[in-house]
Amino acid sequence: MTTSNNPPLHNLYRSLGYDERLLALGAEIEASLKERFDAIDQIAEYNQMKVLHAMQKNRVSEAHFSGSTGYGYNDLGRETLEQIYADVFHAEAALVRPQITCGTHALAVALSANLRPGDELLSPVGRPYDTLEEVIGIRPSKGSLKEYGVSYAQADLKEDGSFDYEAIGRAINKKTKLATIQRSKGYATRPTLSVSAIGELVAFLKSKKPDIICMVDNCYGEFTEAIEPTDAGADLCVGSLIKNPGGGLAPCGGYIVGKEEYVEQAAFRLSAPGLGKEVGASLGLSQTLYQGFFLAPTVTAGAVKGAVFAAALYEKLGFPVFPSSKTVRHDIIQAVDLGSPEALKAFCLGIQAAAPVDSFVTPEPWAMPGYDSDVIMAAGAFIQGSSIELSADGPLKPPYTVFFQGGLTWYHAKAGILSSAQKLLEADLVGL
Ligand SMILES: *Cc1c(COP(=O)(O)O)cnc(C)c1O
Repeated sequence: MTTSNNPPLHNLYRSLGYDERLLALGAEIEASLKERFDAIDQIAEYNQMKVLHAMQKNRVSEAHFSGSTGYGYNDLGRETLEQIYADVFHAEAALVRPQITCGTHALAVALSANLRPGDELLSPVGRPYDTLEEVIGIRPSKGSLKEYGVSYAQADLKEDGSFDYEAIGRAINKKTKLATIQRSKGYATRPTLSVSAIGELVAFLKSKKPDIICMVDNCYGEFTEAIEPTDAGADLCVGSLIKNPGGGLAPCGGYIVGKEEYVEQAAFRLSAPGLGKEVGASLGLSQTLYQGFFLAPTVTAGAVKGAVFAAALYEKLGFPVFPSSKTVRHDIIQAVDLGSPEALKAFCLGIQAAAPVDSFVTPEPWAMPGYDSDVIMAAGAFIQGSSIELSADGPLKPPYTVFFQGGLTWYHAKAGILSSAQKLLEADLVGL
């Protein structure tokens, strides 16, 4: 039911300061998206059953939630959760740890664990996510792969966003050891890759070099489709638990899932050679990581609905949006070109004002570590920096693109998006 045919809801929105015309537009857009939302719900149901089945198969019980301290030897809860991740990703092994501090850390661990001096890393999908530039050494940084003698090659996507197979073929040489494939567009305006497109790319890479390790930066992609990149031939998938797979509950952590030998290398790198997966106390976090993973399919679906709704609303308001409201989604990110710093700030103010936490603060641009321009962020999250929670961020540079994502529930995502438009309306930056 939309706001227009639900008077109490409509009145509540009105009393919270939402403009009458904006609510009408929102209701019209929501009604037009019914089929899209049904399709998103079907993916969520499929993924829910996948996760549920993995938990049943691994005979999860209360004993798995007790956690460990100190070295964390024989942590049944941790080991079983890793098996559940492996099962859901149809992979051999997984490393799922609160000691992995964020997505960048998970990616850095997976890369540095599986590359040796003299090896070359290839990105066949263009420039990687900003923070990886320092991990790789594209931008000079202490402890980068470059400092350890790992070189880097890149093949850009073609103008239309498709793979440049000729350039990729040319970039592969006898040193090429690992290809890093970023599924989500991140802070770029290229298309997000579908799992089937990743599968085609992996097949091509392996046809050129059978022993190449294909690693997918899976951040923001988990559970947006019924299959994951490991189902399409990827050797490794890597991501953050304060994005989709943590279901909004995981307070920190990351995962690396895939072929046993590559996951094992990552474990030795994360802890120490000789120790590997055997150590790493789960403290009191196990139950939360299980529960978050259990909720992740529905939480992700809410975020995807929010992204589609935002695209449709901002298209109607006359802004360029990426992807369009018609595009089938492979991640939870929605980009909108707002065209001015004022509009970017107003958008973020609206997202912030709709948050359950810190709704009263005004987001200001700042020089965030790892990024090359000032960034403005709106996040009123329960978990600091969690971007499966409703959040928006954008670099303060033309075309003043905001990257919007998350929402633990579809209703909150919707309220936040309407609130962002409300702030643009109040600042006379948009007309209705
Ligand atoms: C978020 C993200 C990362 C990095 O994750 P952090 O947790 O912010 O370190 C890497 N790649 C992509 C595509 C991302 O979206």
